[in-house]
Amino acid sequence: MSAQTRILGHILHAYGRRFRLAKGSHPITLTFSVTSRCQSRCLTCHIGDKSRKGHFKDKPDLSLDEIEKIFKSLGKLYFFNVSGGEPFLRSDLPDIVELAIEHLKPGIIHIPTNALAPGPIEKGCREILQKIRKRNIKIPLTVKPSIDGLGDLHDKIRGVRGNFEKLEETIIRLKLLEEEFPEFHLELGTVISRYNIGQLSEIEDYVHTLGVQSYRNEIAEERAEFFNKGDGIAPSAELYEKVIQRFAEEIRRHVGKKRPLTRLTESLRLTYYEFAVKILKKRTQVIPCYGGISNLHLNYNGQLWPCCVLGYDKPLADLRDLNYDVQRAMKTPQARAILDFIRKKGCYCPLANQWYSNILLNPLALARVILNYFFIDLRRKRA
Ligand code: SF4
Repeated sequence: MSAQTRILGHILHAYGRRFRLAKGSHPITLTFSVTSRCQSRCLTCHIGDKSRKGHFKDKPDLSLDEIEKIFKSLGKLYFFNVSGGEPFLRSDLPDIVELAIEHLKPGIIHIPTNALAPGPIEKGCREILQKIRKRNIKIPLTVKPSIDGLGDLHDKIRGVRGNFEKLEETIIRLKLLEEEFPEFHLELGTVISRYNIGQLSEIEDYVHTLGVQSYRNEIAEERAEFFNKGDGIAPSAELYEKVIQRFAEEIRRHVGKKRPLTRLTESLRLTYYEFAVKILKKRTQVIPCYGGISNLHLNYNGQLWPCCVLGYDKPLADLRDLNYDVQRAMKTPQARAILDFIRKKGCYCPLANQWYSNILLNPLALARVILNYFFIDLRRKRA
């Protein structure tokens, strides 16, 4: 079955779930926080700091056996996003990805990293790529080290002295891996917060000098998952809009020479930026959110979430109590109540991976992506 047909199947199911015509769970995307362990002590996230109030200290990470049961009950999806803590702290990460390939049959695998352990990160990536090759299948693997500043600013935001040097070493190692494995893609990512909003141009210029093809950024958010509520880390909507306009202009400037697929991705990104600004200004879901339907988040402790923003505050279920059965979990009154809460716009946020799905699921938003695709250069010339 082609990727397009599979995504179409997921989209139809998501419509069905939203209008209560379909049952069960058939998400496009699963994000799996494989561990809460992390060596970083970021100003924007306290997952690795077990001394934080409300932190779930005593729950072990899901074992491989537990993970396999969950994946089996979930079935096929398209995007498999690994998250953490720091994913590469789990030495069995390649086995987790192998289980995902076996049971979820993802079309794309994505892993972020804090880049603090260049050797083990390279080793983990190589093992995953070898497992993919051994199966004789083609699944793109993207690994995204974080870059939140240059030099000392990066170390300050990430809370670890010497982090920037480790990041540079990680980039060199992963770029060499890219030459060896064409299905491997290195990208870099920045969380835009009030700590680095003044240095974003320098970061972007630096990324371009490295020759890294893909660079993503996301606005810092206060989430139950990060134990950072009330920290005031996000820039204002107005400031964010200014930054985003500049990023959008950069995309328009470079998009002309890019391949059709990249152009389509960039059009989707532009549309997301437009929505993110509107969401922050209007403080509501400006189009319906399919959190818990199109996307699911599995936490390291077996909790199933509609998204990482609601996270511990509104878990759909604890899969350890439900025999690791996602389909059963989605039928519980608790899960139904939370999906209702989201449907009635009880929450809002600009969470990027959820909003990419929301855009795909909204005909008007999708039309906007298509407009951006065809008129991307024209809009630049007029600007
Ligand atoms: S709007 Fe944000 S907080 Fe609400 S369900 Fe969607 S992703 Fe989660």
